[in-house]
Amino acid sequence: MFGSTHLGKFFGIDFRVHGTFWLLPLFVLLTGFGAGLDRVAFDLLLVLAVFVCVALHEVGHALAARAYGIRTRDITLYPVGGVASMERLPERPRHEIAVALAGPAVNVAIAGGLFLGIALGGFVLPWEHTPDALDLFVANVFWANVTLAAFNLLPAFPMDGGRVLRALLASRLSRLRATEVAVQVGSVIAGAMFVAGLAFGHIGLALVAVVVWMLGQGELAAVRARAARENVARKVREFFEPPVPEPVIPGTARDLAARGFTGIAWDEVRGVWVRWVRGVPVGELPA
Ligand SMILES: [Zn+2]
Repeated sequence: MFGSTHLGKFFGIDFRVHGTFWLLPLFVLLTGFGAGLDRVAFDLLLVLAVFVCVALHEVGHALAARAYGIRTRDITLYPVGGVASMERLPERPRHEIAVALAGPAVNVAIAGGLFLGIALGGFVLPWEHTPDALDLFVANVFWANVTLAAFNLLPAFPMDGGRVLRALLASRLSRLRATEVAVQVGSVIAGAMFVAGLAFGHIGLALVAVVVWMLGQGELAAVRARAARENVARKVREFFEPPVPEPVIPGTARDLAARGFTGIAWDEVRGVWVRWVRGVPVGELPA
């Protein structure tokens, strides 16, 4: 029932709409029914326009990721927003910041364009004339983009601002520790959003807060699992692979043993190169 529908390919990326997305226009239809057909049509067009902006936001992420050689499998629209599923996440902090900021940058650009349109095109000047439907529509799309940019920049991991926070932390901490701190900050913000959503009757906000919290926990679990895997791999490598020989250091057999020397040393008495591991001569090198 909640599968996703393929919309088409734009910018070389598959676009999908998740089955749950249709709950949103359904909600608009049911809640606006009493206000008349015009109002419902207006609200549905507005939802459509806002989700085109949400999709373009994801395209911003995808194109920035592509600049670093990361492919995006598809972009899926959910009722609470869009998700660009990249084949991997950028790991260098600088790349992660650039990819995270590219999404909100698209909304800032759209809002800027609409603002110019409003200023130059004479839209939405209620002191000059009664705003008509088009004025209201443009104003709503403008504010939606301002809100999308501002909201996504909240430092609530895994939202864009949270990814910027994680990347900034990762330049000082391990990736795992940086993710843990970013997820903790994100959980506090999500908690506040949830309470505010319930207190002010914004069910959508409360829903987004739950999704942010769940995605944060999911991504933290993935980073933890990966760190554990890497730890095991490192231990296995250390166990099986001999230590890398150090450069040749002159010294007598006794002080090489005393220093726990690892590497290759010249034995002057016998005239051969000897390989040492942790202060023990383990063999001669072929002449
Ligand atoms: Zn984003």
